[in-house]
Amino acid sequence: MAEDKKSELQKREEELFYKSKNIWEEVEDDTIKAIKTYGEKYKIFLEKAKSERLTVRWIMEEAKKRGYSDLNKAEVVKEGDLLYAVNRNKNIVLIRAGSGLSERGANFVVAHADAPRLDMKQVPLMEDTEIALFKTHYYGGIKKYQWLNIPLAITGVVVTRDKTVEVEIGVKEDDPVFVIPDLLPHLARKVQGEKKSGEFIEGENLNLLVGNVPVKDDKVKEKVKLAVLMELNSRYGIIEEDLVSAELQAVPALKPRDVGIDRSFIGGYGHDDRVSTYGAVTALFDAALFDAENKKSSGTAVAYIVDKEEIGSDGPTSVRSLFIYNTIGMLLEKMEGSASTALLRRTMERSTCISADVNAGINPMYKAVHDEKNAAKMAHGIVITKYTGSGGKYMANDADAELVGRIRNLFNANGIYWQYGGMGKIDEGGGGTIAKHFAFYNTSVIDCGVPVIGMHSPYEIISKADLYYSYRAYLVFYEKG
Ligand code: MN
Ligand code: MN
Repeated sequence: MAEDKKSELQKREEELFYKSKNIWEEVEDDTIKAIKTYGEKYKIFLEKAKSERLTVRWIMEEAKKRGYSDLNKAEVVKEGDLLYAVNRNKNIVLIRAGSGLSERGANFVVAHADAPRLDMKQVPLMEDTEIALFKTHYYGGIKKYQWLNIPLAITGVVVTRDKTVEVEIGVKEDDPVFVIPDLLPHLARKVQGEKKSGEFIEGENLNLLVGNVPVKDDKVKEKVKLAVLMELNSRYGIIEEDLVSAELQAVPALKPRDVGIDRSFIGGYGHDDRVSTYGAVTALFDAALFDAENKKSSGTAVAYIVDKEEIGSDGPTSVRSLFIYNTIGMLLEKMEGSASTALLRRTMERSTCISADVNAGINPMYKAVHDEKNAAKMAHGIVITKYTGSGGKYMANDADAELVGRIRNLFNANGIYWQYGGMGKIDEGGGGTIAKHFAFYNTSVIDCGVPVIGMHSPYEIISKADLYYSYRAYLVFYEKG
């Protein structure tokens, strides 16, 4: 007969040890169903949200469907109102107005919608050996070799003399795509083989194949380039000079798909950080205004989607812009009748912010870069990270213990699967999030997000279970945090 009685010391072990759990082992069938359903909806979103502009557009459309209206146009705002504010088509703030804004502050979940990619240069088009090419400038931290010989789509806007034209090529099933050709292995022994991986393709060589058909006129010097421009002109009415005032980006033309025979993972481009964006926004859509358990109305809940995180959070659409501060000022004015600088600052100080960004999940092939005790495991839930940064905690927000305790207790009390995870071994490298920038307002800020394997690659991997519990965690934070 099997001995199923736990010894006293085993019980003590359970009581005293910290141990995160594999969600799949813990949850019942109805939760597994909810995890899978949420994953399906996320894949549909991710396929559309190929850039920060497209992400903001998706959010705005979904918000309007749910009754959100423009904060700028509201005369007064009262408890229960649903509002949005958009900045330059690249930031969006969603607000569910709650009680006592200046007294309680707001609960922010902030995520970024930009992702590593290849931006077109401002004079991108060239011709070499009768092939037309677009020159690119990579955006964010990429391993350049991963972007070779994969299908790429181009998305963005071109501002012409008199209008803004939207460009999207390579997204529809029968569209052509673009490719940066790698060198065949037969001839790569010296040119690539003797170099370090970061060096064997240079930034200046990340050029997309765009065309090969020349115009039929020997008096024209660059015949393929002209043919490409004529095609662009007939499709979009643009001339080469218009590309100077364009934002076009090449992104992987790969559909998000389930990964693994058990469909436990989702592979896709841009999980960092559209996964947190999706969680932050859908949780706000679903959050209740009244906290039934504690019998009080919830405070103001805000999902704030920022840009430029991947290049250091500079610029007017980044988290360091005053846009959020000004927006909360406007909200305060419309809710409480006035908003002095002092009152606005106090509101920010009384607020709490989850910096919703992804973390590095342990990749079994590269365990050595992690301290396993302090690293995130796939399917063990949303990752709480006290600090990111590098070396001796440089450039870190380092949330205070009181805040970490508050969030941990909130998650524990509400059945959220969470785990602790830092950013890798101490001297291995590092990275940052928006946390330290939002902390500028003296807001309490902590990083919480899903673990990713293969981060910043054209096809990143997340766990459906972590995805679902990030959504649940943000929901609980909005309602009761
Ligand atoms: Mn990120
Ligand atoms: Mn990133």
